[in-house]
Amino acid sequence: MKITDEVYLLDSTGWNHAYLILGKENILIDTGRPGQGKGILKDLKSLNIDPEEIEHILITHHDVDHVGNLAFLEKETKANIWASQEDIPYICHEKKRDGHKKYISYLIRTKKPENIVPFPENQKINGIEVIPTPGHTPGHVCFLYNDVLFVGDLLRTSNGTLEHMRTSMNWDSSLVKDSLKKIAEYDFKWICPAHGNPVKRNDELEQLIDNRHLKIV
Ligand SMILES: [Zn+2]
Repeated sequence: MKITDEVYLLDSTGWNHAYLILGKENILIDTGRPGQGKGILKDLKSLNIDPEEIEHILITHHDVDHVGNLAFLEKETKANIWASQEDIPYICHEKKRDGHKKYISYLIRTKKPENIVPFPENQKINGIEVIPTPGHTPGHVCFLYNDVLFVGDLLRTSNGTLEHMRTSMNWDSSLVKDSLKKIAEYDFKWICPAHGNPVKRNDELEQLIDNRHLKIV
């Protein structure tokens, strides 16, 4: 699904969307859950992108439905892999996830990548700004590229409406609100979540922060 001239949702990654940014250096945002790697390569092929033409893979956070094909895609693309300093130990099996996520990671196993590095200190990769938005996980980040904000699991959409993620899946829900306030300060037109379809920004973001439409489950 084309979002802008340079941004595509990779259609095979239903339920936990990964995105492609086309540019001088092509970039993947997240990698879906285990088993979706070949679908991602097919999506790329349909856009005339060879695996080796992916220069960077950026990870929003450590959940298994976002890092599920990291090792596979690392091999296929030889891309540079980036994630937050805080979430890398979970991705590399050096730290155990908390709560439900611990059990989910037993049921849904992921392979660790060979090379993964923390985002650069200036928080910029090829025109993309890394915005730390902790809460869903300790090192969750959003990515801003021109007028598109990739929000990972900071929030989701359902039938075109912004919604909170389940609090039971958050590492620390009290931080989520601060992270939402933080992104609200930025200028962007599109919100691209992992769960649910992209939506154009409207005042729902502010309503979500105000709690009026807060649906904590
Ligand atoms: Zn997720």
